[in-house]
Amino acid sequence: MTIRTVARSALIRSAAALRADKLTLVLRRWLVRSGLSPRLLAVEMHETPERDAAQLRRQLEWAARHFQFVDLSGFANLWQEYRVNPRLWKITKPPLLFTFDDGRQNNYTVAAPLLESFGTHGVFFVVPQFVQCSPQEARQFYYSRIDIREFPPSLPDEETRSMTPDQIADLARRGHAIGNHTYSHVNLRTLPGSQLHHEIVDSAEQIAAWAGQPVNAFAWTFSWDSITPAAWKLIQQHHRFCFAPCPGSVDCRTDTPSLIWRIEVEVDYPPADFRFMYSGLADALWGRKRRRLRSRLTDALAAQSTHPHSS
Ligand SMILES: [Zn+2]
Repeated sequence: MTIRTVARSALIRSAAALRADKLTLVLRRWLVRSGLSPRLLAVEMHETPERDAAQLRRQLEWAARHFQFVDLSGFANLWQEYRVNPRLWKITKPPLLFTFDDGRQNNYTVAAPLLESFGTHGVFFVVPQFVQCSPQEARQFYYSRIDIREFPPSLPDEETRSMTPDQIADLARRGHAIGNHTYSHVNLRTLPGSQLHHEIVDSAEQIAAWAGQPVNAFAWTFSWDSITPAAWKLIQQHHRFCFAPCPGSVDCRTDTPSLIWRIEVEVDYPPADFRFMYSGLADALWGRKRRRLRSRLTDALAAQSTHPHSS
């Protein structure tokens, strides 16, 4: 356990003891309903194995009491409605969108049907090269490209597999959104510029061919700053939404679809942990990183458009 995880769990325990998560949820709901702070929330999840299905259901039951579940188009429409006429924005609970990274097979078998049982649909960010792995290659790909921690947990084979092209097509037919998570799960920050097109644009085309519909959403891999202005620009040229692995809630007034914050909540989080994340108490801790990221990306592009010939 690092100092950071110890500090985080102490913070979560104190928040739970003080009922701060509950108070913040009530406050957030009131601020959204009154229109004083129009916020949308996007969740970033990863593996959803069968053995945790009951736990995920309990988490969704809890979340459904505090949030209004929306799919990607519902999320976009509410945002747009607010921009067009804030006074007509009538919602009773803060909107919540579920997104899943890496296109894991257990997202198809466990998460998608569960979301449907709650009347909603998710966004599934897939990785074409992972999709194309044979069952024998998938494990090697998973531990060299996706979970690259020094001491990752050793998962059973069936939990290191990607969904298949047929499963992607099936999800799209059922109303879920299929998003782009780079062609081979690369870190866009360290990727040579010559490979950006393949990892972003070829990837979107391949996924669209499987899904049978255009790909509107992109999510970059790894950490909040695994991105460059050039990669972000190319993403925007080919996608309407870009999701960041950087926690926060989306402020309809000041945020843009090209940079959408997501809070990470995993299926095995105990109730105190997921309540803490959903409540928005973690948002404040990430304020500086959100500002840094936004200014790093937008300042570089603004400078580029003022001096188009400088590199
Ligand atoms: Zn990923």
